[in-house]
Amino acid sequence: MKDCIFCKIINKEIPSDIVYEDEKVVAFRDLEPQAPVHLLIVPKTHIASLNDVEPKDLETMGWLLTKVKEIAASQNLANGYRLVCNTGEDALQTVKHIHFHLLGRRLMQWPPG
Ligand code: AMP
Repeated sequence: MKDCIFCKIINKEIPSDIVYEDEKVVAFRDLEPQAPVHLLIVPKTHIASLNDVEPKDLETMGWLLTKVKEIAASQNLANGYRLVCNTGEDALQTVKHIHFHLLGRRLMQWPPG
C-alpha cells in the first residue's frame, strides 16, 4: 500500500536489516530496539492490524505463526522470547501494517508497562 512504511520495506523501496524473508513473510530489525534482539515479523500482504484479519488471511497469518520459532531459533533465543502485536491506540500501535515484535535475549517484565 502506498505510504505504508512496512510495504516500502517489503518492496525494498527503503533500506532495512532483513533477517528472514519468504514469499509471504519478512522479518527485519526494529530501528529502535527494546531488547538485544528486537525484530518485526510482518506479512507481505498489507493488513492494517489484528482487528483487520479476515478468513481470507488465514493462510498468510497461519504461515507467519509457523515461522516464528524458526526466526527465533536463527537469533539464538532458545531461552525464550516475547511476541507482541500492538493493536490500536491504547496499545500504541504506530505503524498501521500488522507486525509482531519478537523480543529476546533479556529477562522480560510482567505485567508490561
Ligand atoms: P508499533 O508501535 O507496535 O506500531 O511498532 C512500530 C515499530 O516500528 C516501532 O518499534 C518502530 O521502532 C519500528 N519502526 C518504524 N519504522 C521503522 C523502520 N523503517 N525500520 C525498522 N523499524 C521501524
